[in-house]
Amino acid sequence: MSFRAKNLRHQAFSAAFAAIAATRADRWGRGLAQGAGVILTLHHVRPQRQGGFAPNGLLEITPEFLDRTLMLIRAEGYDLVSLDQAVARLASPRKGRFFVALTFDDGYRDNVEHAWPVLASHGAPWTLFVTTGFADRTARLWWLELEESIRALRQIALTLPDGPFAARAGSDNEKQRAFESLYWRLRKHPEAILLSAISDLAGQAGVDAAALVERECLPWETLRALSGAPGVSIGAHTLTHPMLAKHDAAFAQMEMADGKARLEAELGMPIRHFAYPVGDPSSAGPREFALAAEAGFTSAVTTRPGHLFPEHAAHLHALPRVSLNGLHQSEAAVRALLSGLPFWLWNRGRRVNGR
Ligand SMILES: [Zn+2]
Repeated sequence: MSFRAKNLRHQAFSAAFAAIAATRADRWGRGLAQGAGVILTLHHVRPQRQGGFAPNGLLEITPEFLDRTLMLIRAEGYDLVSLDQAVARLASPRKGRFFVALTFDDGYRDNVEHAWPVLASHGAPWTLFVTTGFADRTARLWWLELEESIRALRQIALTLPDGPFAARAGSDNEKQRAFESLYWRLRKHPEAILLSAISDLAGQAGVDAAALVERECLPWETLRALSGAPGVSIGAHTLTHPMLAKHDAAFAQMEMADGKARLEAELGMPIRHFAYPVGDPSSAGPREFALAAEAGFTSAVTTRPGHLFPEHAAHLHALPRVSLNGLHQSEAAVRALLSGLPFWLWNRGRRVNGR
């Protein structure tokens, strides 16, 4: 996630969605921007909660919106495919057939409780990218710790290596501003600084990091049951969910290879696909793309926004995805996302970005 950049991007996308809907560009623009297919990124799927302070709301859609999205995909005649099939379709595209692959990051309980029944009702295959440390209850949902801490506190005060951070957090607006400025300030630091600062804040707020992981993330028992189910694939998402590019190569290599090996041992099946945690250019770059290939993954997905074109068959470890985003739960947004036009415009017509 990158909130400031993403907020600007969201504003640009909102305007683009409206323009695309008004001009029916989702239809005439298809040949240009749609490509062979798209991989959608989802995180939480659960019923709408209380409004107000929800800084991670972009990572959450409702089961109803997922249902409407899958209905639209089916109504447009698009193919819902697994990641294995998506990779195969890049190598040998089917003229006139557009595919959509669904991926869910991190391994949340609500994916099984709220998303799976909807997916199953549409016969939609899906891939769940699992961070083994969440199933072990040892890794940290630091962005959620930050949210819960700011929710609980009325004043934020921290000492950081580059000086103090202080902000009021009385109202929802103040909490939102505090979250965004602290989030971005911390993202500039090495990950150890980010994690220790958020631990400090969680301590002040009485937020129990391990309890959040227990509340939100699937246990091994459920993952084992899920891994044999029809239409379900499990992919790797590291051991502890680090921003890999911020660490040395040996650590990044270990997180990727050991995450894969651990899943294979726990689930008793080969793990072929990988998702880079956070997945933006500051978290996954050319070094990580090479490491993913070296670790033996068939494909690896980023969060760089974009559709898939036949050229991506030569860049299978740097695949773009499109977020089915909680801030844009409308039919106009889905039509625009599936047209590819917002990303084609965002990437200025460049179809493959390997840097
Ligand atoms: Zn993740």
